Amino acid sequence: MEFRDSMTLETRRGAKGRHMAAAPDCLFCKIVAGDVPAEVVHVTEHAVAFRDINAQAPTHVLVVPRVHYRNAAELAHGDPEVTAELLRVAAAVAEAEGHADYRLVFNTGESVGQTVFHTHVHLLAGRAMTWPPG
Ligand code: AMP
Ligand code: ZN
Repeated sequence: MEFRDSMTLETRRGAKGRHMAAAPDCLFCKIVAGDVPAEVVHVTEHAVAFRDINAQAPTHVLVVPRVHYRNAAELAHGDPEVTAELLRVAAAVAEAEGHADYRLVFNTGESVGQTVFHTHVHLLAGRAMTWPPG
């Protein structure tokens, strides 16, 4: 595994001895740990889905890995199976909320709107959407 911000990482072992990593000042690591409250809608061994605090659609859920990576590509390099799990969880949440159609967004980098540097996919659904996005 490769971490750009390895100097700020602390590592710990999960219940099953699997390598886990958290960044101490990361908001989404704190949500995963239960240290910051969130409206969690779906959990798996490797991912957590919770409602975006500033919803942009009737369903706006963020799906995050439990392990800390800065963006989708770094997660894909470090843990491809968990990357796929994010998409499976997003599909399950969309189905559970009654949406056959939905949009998934991974912002990567400040200039395209990434504000939290812990990998997350936005699940947006429940209204018509235009293309291209702004
Ligand atoms: P991005 O701009 O792609 O990095 O997405 C970060 C998202 O996190 C934004 O849509 C924010 O509204 C959302 N967000 C920020 N803080 C919280 C929080 N405490 N709970 C839930 N969502 C949050
Ligand atoms: Zn994190």
